[in-house]
Amino acid sequence: MLLVALTSASLSAPAFNTTQSQALFEAAQTLMPGGVSSPVRAFKSVGGNPVVFDRVKGAYAWDVDGNRYIDYIGSWGPAICGHAHPEVIAALHDALEKGTSFGAPCALENRLAELVIEAVPSVEMVRFVNSGTEACMSVLRLMRAFTGREKIIKFEGCYHGHADMFLVKAGSGVATLGLPDSPGVPRTTAASTLTAPYNDLEAVKQLFAENPGEIAGVILEPVVGNAGFIQPLPGFLEGIRELTREHDALLVFDEVMTGFRISYGGAQAKFGITPDLTTMGKVIGGGLPVGAYGGRSDIMGMVAPAGPMYQAGTLSGNPLAMTAGIKTLELLKQPGSYERLEAITQRLIEGIKKAASDAGLPITGGSISAMFGFFLCDGPVRNFEEAKAADAARFGRLHRAMLERGVYLAPSAFEAGFTSLAHSDDDIDATIAAFRECFALVA
Ligand SMILES: *Cc1c(COP(=O)(O)O)cnc(C)c1O
Repeated sequence: MLLVALTSASLSAPAFNTTQSQALFEAAQTLMPGGVSSPVRAFKSVGGNPVVFDRVKGAYAWDVDGNRYIDYIGSWGPAICGHAHPEVIAALHDALEKGTSFGAPCALENRLAELVIEAVPSVEMVRFVNSGTEACMSVLRLMRAFTGREKIIKFEGCYHGHADMFLVKAGSGVATLGLPDSPGVPRTTAASTLTAPYNDLEAVKQLFAENPGEIAGVILEPVVGNAGFIQPLPGFLEGIRELTREHDALLVFDEVMTGFRISYGGAQAKFGITPDLTTMGKVIGGGLPVGAYGGRSDIMGMVAPAGPMYQAGTLSGNPLAMTAGIKTLELLKQPGSYERLEAITQRLIEGIKKAASDAGLPITGGSISAMFGFFLCDGPVRNFEEAKAADAARFGRLHRAMLERGVYLAPSAFEAGFTSLAHSDDDIDATIAAFRECFALVA
């Protein structure tokens, strides 16, 4: 009753109608496992059915019933300039005229490579692939090829795509759905993936001590977005950099999410710590399927055909994807982009935290540039174990209430939120006002 009363009092738009979405999602469930092409989209952890999108533009998404949402997912990261940016769309139209895929070298690959190498401190050479998953699985092969060692260290709650060797205490959808490490992953494969709690340098030290000369390297999200938003404690990234050097192991920053999001040069530029190798995705594809891995040229020189480590891709570096990536990076490179992103995102998270506190709810959270997140519990949250203390049921109710008020948040307590250059000050104000209303509802 309370919900109905508040909804009708506060909404000027017609009542929340999702008839078309419901019908489409019901049909989808008979056609595709869980009705989706990627698990978190199914809203399983927040309850209720997902809405089916019809189109996106700027900071907004519209569903098939015509409801409009202020979107804080941005296609899970790529839409940092806003959805369907006119310059990106225009460039894609031009590129389309020349064909969709060459399967041969194209000048656009050089241009995107130059932009990435110029921006990301660790990257001297780069290989383009089609997804973040592909970038991470390829970089792992490269770590092993270069060091001649098999074991790797990853952190609990970090997500590096769905390749076998990373589905060990993984974040993102794996965490969202509360899945154990996935069936289908060979025991031998999982055995060479060692895990430590995030922000726990001692645990990493111990793993190195217990596995002398066997660890190829350490891979991590330099700022975690796949176990909710978790920042590295001062000294953590520095410590990992020192430890890997000390043990002749490689350090890989998985910047699929943070690359070109928390600064133009990613987390490594923001924190001034240079890994040996870096994986990228999301933003560098500008909304088309692109991933990349890159790093020191002596290591990248091992990649075929320059060297013996095999990795290939029929559609890799295709002209449409390169075009969207190039245009997106050019837009981001313009002066003031990250200052603007930082300012609105900070205002948003502070507004969210204040609204929760005013409703008497425990909350902890923060932001870096265009990435933010909060947990409905008392802080601090420094690792996945602490993240799991957050009130998931309350988050589910909050998520639904926000959806009904036209704000589209990640349908999981274990995902970060994303802002874009298209989010206006009014969008941020409206979002904070909706949070204020919804926190009162779920308190
Ligand atoms: C999204 C993500 C991936 C996987 O990328 P896909 O393009 O979904 O395969 C890997 N690592 C991190 C840190 C990510 O956020």
